[in-house]
Amino acid sequence: MGAVQENVTLGRKQQQLPLRPAGLLTVRSLLAWYEAERRDLPWRYGPRKAADPYRVWLSEIMLQQTTVKAVVPYFQKFVARWPTVSALAAAPLEEVLQQWAGLGYYSRARNLKACADAVVRDHGGAFPRAEAKLLKLPGIGPYTAAAISAIAFGQKATPVDGNIERVVSRLFAVRQPLPGAKPEIKRLAATLTPQRRAGDFAQAMMDLGAEICTPKNPSCLVCPVQQDCSASAQNLAELLPIKAAKAARPSRYGVAFLVQREDGAVLLRQRPEAGLLGGMLEVPSTVWGEKLPARTEAMRAAPVTTSWMQAAGTVVHVFTHFRLELVVYRALVPIDTSFTLWAEQERCRWVQRRDLHAQALPTVMKKVIAHGLADN
Ligand code: SF4
Repeated sequence: MGAVQENVTLGRKQQQLPLRPAGLLTVRSLLAWYEAERRDLPWRYGPRKAADPYRVWLSEIMLQQTTVKAVVPYFQKFVARWPTVSALAAAPLEEVLQQWAGLGYYSRARNLKACADAVVRDHGGAFPRAEAKLLKLPGIGPYTAAAISAIAFGQKATPVDGNIERVVSRLFAVRQPLPGAKPEIKRLAATLTPQRRAGDFAQAMMDLGAEICTPKNPSCLVCPVQQDCSASAQNLAELLPIKAAKAARPSRYGVAFLVQREDGAVLLRQRPEAGLLGGMLEVPSTVWGEKLPARTEAMRAAPVTTSWMQAAGTVVHVFTHFRLELVVYRALVPIDTSFTLWAEQERCRWVQRRDLHAQALPTVMKKVIAHGLADN
C-alpha cells in the first residue's frame, strides 16, 4: 500500500496489524443483505432481475455529481415524457435541456441526447452489452459503462463510484491517499465482483456506501460485512479513505445585464454550443474573468444603450472548478427596443416572465434573474 497522508496519524497498533482480505464471505453477506435491505429506487428492478438498460443509463448519467433525492423527480419526469431511448432521440435538444434545467452539469444533458441519437443510429435502438462498446458512446465513461453492463446485462463488470470507492478502501484498509489510490481501489474492487449477479453486487455496494458505510460515522456494528472488513478490525473506518489536500477553488467575476421590456419580457441569450453550460440560455453578461470589470469596460458587453441600475449585492454560484460572483445591472426598455447594432442579437430572444420556468436556464441564471427582479 502507499504512503499515509501526513495529516492523518495512525496509532502504532493500527499500523502493525496485517490486512484482512475481503472475499467470498463479503460477496455472500452483501448479496443477502441487499435482498432484504436494498433501496427502492424508480430505475431498479428486483434482485436477480436484469434492469432496463435505458433506465439504468439515464439514472447513472443523472446521478453523476448529484444525490439520489435530487435525481428521482427528474428521472420520473424524463421516463414519463420519453419512455424509451428512441423517444429521447426523437426529442429536440432544446427540450431535453429544458427538462434537465436545475440538475446542473449541462454537458451531461447534451451528451445524453447525443448518446440516445447514437444508440438509435448505430445500434438499432438497443444499448450494446459489452463495456468496450458502451465506452464508445457519448457521455459514457468507465464507471457508467461498467454499471450498465453489470446492472442491465448481468455481465461481470465492476463500476466504482464514490460510494464503492469508500467501501473498498475501508474493506481493504487502503492507506494510500485519493486520488492516487484510484487504480488500486479499482483493482481491489474487481477482485470482489462475482461471476454471477455482478449487477446486484454492484448495487449492493452502492447501497452499503450510501446507507451504512457512510463518509462520517459509518455504522460498522450493523454492517453485513464487518466480519471481513480490515478498516473496522483496525479501528480505521472513520479515517479512510484518506484524501490528498485539494487546491483552493479560484474565483471569477462578471457583470450580468438583466433587460426587461415594458411588457414584462426578459432578454435571454443562448450560450455557445461548446464549453460550460453549452447551449443553455443565460442573461447576457461580460466574460467571467479573474477581476470584476470596471463599469465602463463592462458596458462594452451591454446589449443595449440605456440607463442601467446596479442591483444591490451580488450573485454567487459555485461550480466544480471555480466560484462565480456576478454583479447584476438591470434596465427597463420600451417594447420596440432594437438591438440591431449589437453583434449578439442573433442568439437572443425575449421571454415572458411567466414562461421563464420552462426555459433551459441553468441555476446560476435563475439566481441572476431572481436577484435582478427582486431589486425592482
Ligand atoms: Fe464500512 Fe464499517 Fe462496514 Fe467496514 S465494517 S465496510 S468500515 S461500515
